[in-house]
Amino acid sequence: MSAETIHSVIAGLAGEVMEHTGVEASHCYQCGKCSAGCPLSEEMEYPPSYVMRMLQTSDPVLEDKILRSFTIWVCLTCEMCYSRCPMSIDIPKMMDFLREKSLKEGKANHRAKHIIAFHKSFLDSIRITGRLYEIGLLVDYKSRTFKVMQDMSLAPKMFVRGKLNIFPEMIKGRAGVSSIFSKSNKKSK
Ligand code: SF4
Ligand code: SF4
Repeated sequence: MSAETIHSVIAGLAGEVMEHTGVEASHCYQCGKCSAGCPLSEEMEYPPSYVMRMLQTSDPVLEDKILRSFTIWVCLTCEMCYSRCPMSIDIPKMMDFLREKSLKEGKANHRAKHIIAFHKSFLDSIRITGRLYEIGLLVDYKSRTFKVMQDMSLAPKMFVRGKLNIFPEMIKGRAGVSSIFSKSNKKSK
């Protein structure tokens, strides 16, 4: 089904979710198993089954609430909801799309600023070295958040156990990693 056809059949944000992730909100019958199993549901204003119901309404006010919610940022992509859903609805994939859209539209929840900073620092580390460089990640994250002393007591123990490398290890296939980032950036524009 083409993107235009999907939009003509499914309205609003649910149509966009369907177009970009293949997730059909209308398939959810509100059994609540996803919310019952989600380890973070108590931290969310709208647990996953609520998000599904809000999408089903196609109400622009509720759609805006989803994009401005903390829910989409606190989701860990642990896939517990997906594994419990009798309709095999890929909620983590949908959350990923909602985070991207929320950022693009400048609607990211203010409580998520440290989570977003961590995402950016993590991805920058992978983009530059091709793998995670923990010290680089820490320095970048702390410079974005000004949480200089947070968790610093853990660093010596990690260092002694060989979990922190002073210098980054550059992988050979960095050009390949770089091209994945460029393709992904183009796709999200
Ligand atoms: S993937 Fe997200 S929404 Fe689903 S159970 Fe895990 S934290 Fe909850
Ligand atoms: S488990 Fe699946 S069908 Fe049940 S409420 Fe969650 S998304 Fe809907």
